[in-house]
Amino acid sequence: MRYEPIKKHGIADMKVKPNLLDYERARREMSWESMAKELEWFDDGHINIAYEAIDRHIKTPVRDRVALIWEGKDGKTERYTFHDLYRLTNRFANVLKRLGIEKGERVFTYMDRIPEIYIAILGTLKAGAVTGPLFSAFGSDAVRDRLADSGARVLVTTPRLVKTVDAVVDSLPALERIIIVNREGVPYELKHREVSYEALMEEASDEFEIVKTDKEDFAIMHYTSGTTGKPKGAAHVHEAIVGHYATAKYVLDLHPEDIYWCTADPGWVTGTSYGIFGPWSNGITQVVYEGGFSASHWYRVIEKHGVTVWYTAPTAIRMLMKAGEKVAQKYNLKTLRYMCSVGEPLNPEAVLWGQKVFGIPFHDNWWQTETGCIQIANYPVQDIKPGSMGRPFIGVTATILDEDLATELPPNREGHLALKVRWPSMFRTYWNKKDLYESRFKGEWYITGDRAKRDEDGYFWFVGRADDVINTAGHLVGPFEVESALIEHPAVAEAGVIGIPDPIANEVIKAFVSLKDGYEPSEELKMDIKRFAREKLHAVACPREIEFLPGLPKTRSGKIMRRLLKARELGLPEGDTSTLEE
Ligand code: ATP
Ligand code: MG
Repeated sequence: MRYEPIKKHGIADMKVKPNLLDYERARREMSWESMAKELEWFDDGHINIAYEAIDRHIKTPVRDRVALIWEGKDGKTERYTFHDLYRLTNRFANVLKRLGIEKGERVFTYMDRIPEIYIAILGTLKAGAVTGPLFSAFGSDAVRDRLADSGARVLVTTPRLVKTVDAVVDSLPALERIIIVNREGVPYELKHREVSYEALMEEASDEFEIVKTDKEDFAIMHYTSGTTGKPKGAAHVHEAIVGHYATAKYVLDLHPEDIYWCTADPGWVTGTSYGIFGPWSNGITQVVYEGGFSASHWYRVIEKHGVTVWYTAPTAIRMLMKAGEKVAQKYNLKTLRYMCSVGEPLNPEAVLWGQKVFGIPFHDNWWQTETGCIQIANYPVQDIKPGSMGRPFIGVTATILDEDLATELPPNREGHLALKVRWPSMFRTYWNKKDLYESRFKGEWYITGDRAKRDEDGYFWFVGRADDVINTAGHLVGPFEVESALIEHPAVAEAGVIGIPDPIANEVIKAFVSLKDGYEPSEELKMDIKRFAREKLHAVACPREIEFLPGLPKTRSGKIMRRLLKARELGLPEGDTSTLEE
């Protein structure tokens, strides 16, 4: 390890006493069963995510707490209490009932981050239907693929976005109704199968008897990010709320007085598990910013709303680093007390940058669409080893398996990251892909598709996706290690590393690099970066070739698409690019 651990000095000097005070003890004494008991079940087998997120607070003083502080692209702010959301989600559930939607049917949303998306998702769950949020920047093909695969009966969208749907609606026989949300009241004439959200909501009652779903009833469908191939529809059940709730409490460390901001869009699993269900099942106020990324806008959101806990992603952090700390210094960011990151490996440099600029480090955690909630994490009470994903959550058993997926490897050996089956928020299938789903399990283990190692203290270190690992001169090299070294170079903003075929070494390493503002590509700079890499890395891990790109191809959820860098490099078909950010 090239970085010193960031020491935590006990809870005495922490601003807020963490919910998780003693990791080892919690692992011994707590379990998914004990955490499930912190929620309100209808009976042993029945629970509804929306009831936990909203309804159960209505009987407590949390009822009048602000649940959602929404800031629109134009800076307009709206506030919704838990009681407001209770009434509105009841109304939406009544709307679906009136449209004849039944338990288990799919109701998808395709909207920007406007308040109605939250109302629609939770109202859908109340009605016992399955929610499927689509990212608003998807094009027609991406929308059609997902609606066709899921057989969605209802889509909730807006006058602007419905145009994308119009192009493909004829190939979606299951799609009976399109609910149009027209919050700005633009002139709009409803077409065949379209109904008005505002009109239906106006007529709907505030009272709704929530469907008492079984813990194994399907609740949420999320298509994966498409980083390694065609996105798969991971289906989750109502029991998943146990995972959302417990990890939001013990990993994100949410407390009643927090103002929490998750920057992910509900079109991706982080944006629902931790942008809706986790915080609200804990009764926490959260901020939603409709606008996209901009360093100054983001800092202003933190300052204006007094954000205390912030959950974001490596790609955003790298962009903040690229913008430079001077931008951060213009804002009062002192309210921030805790910061977490997910979605990609978090480069050690980024962890330390947090420490330097905000006075607190970013806490990396690892999970997937399939796992439904955080599985491996850094915690407020534990030292951080920069570059490590941290240690398994309470109730989670993670391990490293050998190449045959048969034997658990000892510390410091690289292999396949696997999780012991099962945990409440584990996906229960890939929609219409049962065989693929089953192929992801081996005995008692779920095989994550990522490679990692575990150290003697039980910290896990990400190596790379199994597909991305480079085999060079008899060594396996994870792209993350190389990328992390490259971005330590003052000129480098981002790096994406792949293996390209080589007759002698099998593969050699090529790095694609985008530069920070103020740096120009040149042969000299290339040499300098190579020299720099040689100082930081083992000889086999040094890139043979460097190519400058203005930006790296990424998924819309912000992940570097190494498979695309490779396909382009080798002149191969690009495969599914439905989630590519343009
Ligand atoms: P697809 O499955 O369609 O290829 P995806 O795997 O990117 O897409 P997600 O479920 O959104 O879809 O992402 C989960 C993956 O993201 C993990 O398997 C891992 O590779 C990566 N990831 C998430 N968090 C971390 C982290 N903290 N460190 C390293 N990798 C992470
Ligand atoms: Mg995946």
